[in-house]
Amino acid sequence: MSDCIFCRIVAGEIPSRKVYEDDEVFAFHDIHPVAPVHFLLIPKRHIASLAECGAADCDILGRMLLLASKLAKEQGLDAGFRTVINTGRGGGQEVFHLHMHVFGGGASLPGF
Ligand code: 5GP
Ligand code: ZN
Repeated sequence: MSDCIFCRIVAGEIPSRKVYEDDEVFAFHDIHPVAPVHFLLIPKRHIASLAECGAADCDILGRMLLLASKLAKEQGLDAGFRTVINTGRGGGQEVFHLHMHVFGGGASLPGF
């Protein structure tokens, strides 16, 4: 998916501030943070959105959730953090490569 901005970030074609990388997952700081710490967790394999996931993706989705918690702690978010997955146009998704926002720090986030 050479036209996918997040695939290009994984490939190193677009620079990013890397937080974490393994064989399946890549994490990097969001370019427009909404909190003092705000990074994105993505599968290296192109999946357009959560709506495209099926049973075969259980493992990668579970790994992303566990990594969100581990990396948030490593980034100093001891008091807690928020995870968001925008899905589809109606869900506010702008980049169509599955990603989980992880953010927090500073003032407490509003409830909803
Ligand atoms: P979405 O609205 O699709 O859930 O969120 C996409 C996120 O990707 C936005 O928060 C936006 O700031 C971030 N983003 C878009 N392009 C880039 C980029 O080139 N580099 C980085 N680091 N973040 C990006
Ligand atoms: Zn992609």
